[in-house]
Amino acid sequence: MSKIREIHNKLKNKEVTCLELVQEKLDLLKLNTHNTVNSLLDTLAIDLAKKVDAKIADGKEIGLLEGIPFGIKDVYMVQGTYTTASSDLLKNYKSSYTATAIQKLLDAGAIPLVKENCDSFGHGSSSENTIFGAVKNAVNPTLVGGGSSGGSAVNVAKEYTIFSIGGDTGGSIRQPAGYNNVYGLKPTYGRISRFGLMAYASSTDCVGPIAKSLEDIRIVLNAMSAKDVKDQTTYQSESISKDVVLLTDEIKTVGYFKNFIESEAISSEIKQSFLRTIDTIKSKGIAVKELDFFESDTLVSTYYTLAMAETASNLSRLDGTNYGNRIEGKNLKDTYSITRSENFSEETKRRIVGGNQVLSQGFSDEIYLKGLNLRDQIAANFEKDFKKVDLILSPVTPNNPPKIGDSLKDPLAMYLSDAYTVGFSLGQLPTLTTPKGTATGIQITAAKKNDELVLQFANFLNDIL
Ligand code: GLN
Repeated sequence: MSKIREIHNKLKNKEVTCLELVQEKLDLLKLNTHNTVNSLLDTLAIDLAKKVDAKIADGKEIGLLEGIPFGIKDVYMVQGTYTTASSDLLKNYKSSYTATAIQKLLDAGAIPLVKENCDSFGHGSSSENTIFGAVKNAVNPTLVGGGSSGGSAVNVAKEYTIFSIGGDTGGSIRQPAGYNNVYGLKPTYGRISRFGLMAYASSTDCVGPIAKSLEDIRIVLNAMSAKDVKDQTTYQSESISKDVVLLTDEIKTVGYFKNFIESEAISSEIKQSFLRTIDTIKSKGIAVKELDFFESDTLVSTYYTLAMAETASNLSRLDGTNYGNRIEGKNLKDTYSITRSENFSEETKRRIVGGNQVLSQGFSDEIYLKGLNLRDQIAANFEKDFKKVDLILSPVTPNNPPKIGDSLKDPLAMYLSDAYTVGFSLGQLPTLTTPKGTATGIQITAAKKNDELVLQFANFLNDIL
């Protein structure tokens, strides 16, 4: 059931005012004990809500997204609001402009409530790498909320927001969506503009929605998608209609990676439930093929090599001169060095050091160029697969969410927990987490620019599971 449509009807029928709705959500956010909030946008939200109410009182039509409260991962620029990336470095930074994706939602009348807690600069898989306290899982608060868009997924799961906008570089929308039993979509790279999203790894960064229903994912995806002159990697896409999503009989063949399921790292519970889901799909007359793919270790090391290189380069601008909490040293070089060492987290520094290492002379041929080459091979492999199957299915994660504190003790184990998400990022493919099929959900992936196929199959799974 679409929450957006439900609220839209209530607003239209005057069963609730927008102000009441927004106030209720702001109160829930304020009192919440899951650490999902970096800053509340209460003044702005209340102002906008009053305008929606005035419009309704005047008997004017309202759009589907008008008056719908939403959350924003704290890595998106929204003019005049704190945009901290959950870091000490940008703790006091206020955006001077608004990200294209967010602007499109504002133009449609949606109401931003909150900048949401996440791993600092998107660096992490648990939302513990943050100055605002670890995000707690919506289902079991002793477990992590997932990351890096943990605050966004938990807010949606707890219904503090109707939908939230996360960011996904290597799984940061899909994995927290899976850990909190909600939907999360990483669209095809370039479908939604990255302008105003703080850059982590530019070649895989994607903007995407997290929501409680598939229909809400579709609505928000359509609202944000468009070619943008401010992001030259964007392309113009067709809006996905409600009817297209219902055409589930277009899908004939799906595949899954045998080695993902045979890996020693997968829990037997997730493995069994995934295979049971595959059997159910087969029983509905869909052909299922086993596919070969790169080993998880290769995927994770290729992803982290490239992501670290790109983030080291992207974050080099944060030296306390134009942005960030400047700490004065003896001279300029010293100032840069103190500002960056004191204000970046351990995890972020690990990535900057790693990234600069793989880019440096004497190493780049051996490591960085090899990473690029592997990425091409991964993309070629996907192309080959999508000649044989319409979609690829995969678990979202090999295991259930860890306890709060565990990932911080073992960063390598945390990197390896991204085994099933990072490959699809390197392929720049559209992938959806649907909260079904295993305890942490199932990922549905299509070839580039076939985002509607992903939604169709999710709809089919909703019918059969
Ligand atoms: N966990 C992955 C990482 O730390 C993915 C993060 C993301 O998608 N922002 O790189």
